[in-house]
Amino acid sequence: MSLPAIKRVLLKLSGEVLMGNQQFGIDPEFVSELAKEVKAAKETGLEICLVIGGGNIFRGMAGAAKGMDRAQADYMGMLATVMNALAMQNALEQLGVQTRVQSAIEMDKVCEPVIRRRAERHLEKGRVVIFAAGVGAPYFTTDSGAALRAAEMRCDALLKGTSVDGVYDSDPKHNPDAVRFDTVTYDRVLADNLKVMDASAVALCRDNHIPIVVFSIREQGNLARVLAGEGVQTIVQ
Ligand code: UDP
Repeated sequence: MSLPAIKRVLLKLSGEVLMGNQQFGIDPEFVSELAKEVKAAKETGLEICLVIGGGNIFRGMAGAAKGMDRAQADYMGMLATVMNALAMQNALEQLGVQTRVQSAIEMDKVCEPVIRRRAERHLEKGRVVIFAAGVGAPYFTTDSGAALRAAEMRCDALLKGTSVDGVYDSDPKHNPDAVRFDTVTYDRVLADNLKVMDASAVALCRDNHIPIVVFSIREQGNLARVLAGEGVQTIVQ
């Protein structure tokens, strides 16, 4: 199985990849490296929507595990994704790539609200649109936000750039014999609870026929290789 022709893509980056080699937060030098990857992909003519997680700063589940109210903690997580989006916007614009940030939680001093038709116009004009604050509701993740925006923006694929190079049949950090799938179906991912994205995100992609490509964004040039069909990756479809 291979990918269909991709004209418009939703690129989801886990918050943790913005940390670089730090344990927490945002490493501007590393964000700048990521922005170069995005710029190179854009220069191939792709329309790019970006969603960035917040796990490098705050995750609601972690707050709840320490006694916080889950919804309150999730709102903090959503705010973390806005900070990441602004960091990426800054890095892209320093490279001359025009961007707009649209947040599912309105904050008009720093970015636009999510307006689909306006996002379409930005893409037509060659801007990268960075969607922040996930779906704008607690008890969700930015994976679900990415699947939602990929569906409403009619993206041809959802690329999940993370720190592992695909989907394995068991956790490669704990099992040296874990095997990476080249391709796997949505239903197998859901039935076997494989660690790709959360179930609601996978189901949304399945129902809207959006292939999910899981790859490592940590190696330089990997995004371009994956888009050219030459990278190490797992395609969920
Ligand atoms: N979050 C949320 N609703 C959303 C998206 C995110 O409540 O629609 C919160 C949730 O607490 C989550 C945090 O924001 O843990 C950061 O997002 P995520 O964990 O998806 O980031 P990633 O793991 O991709 O870095």
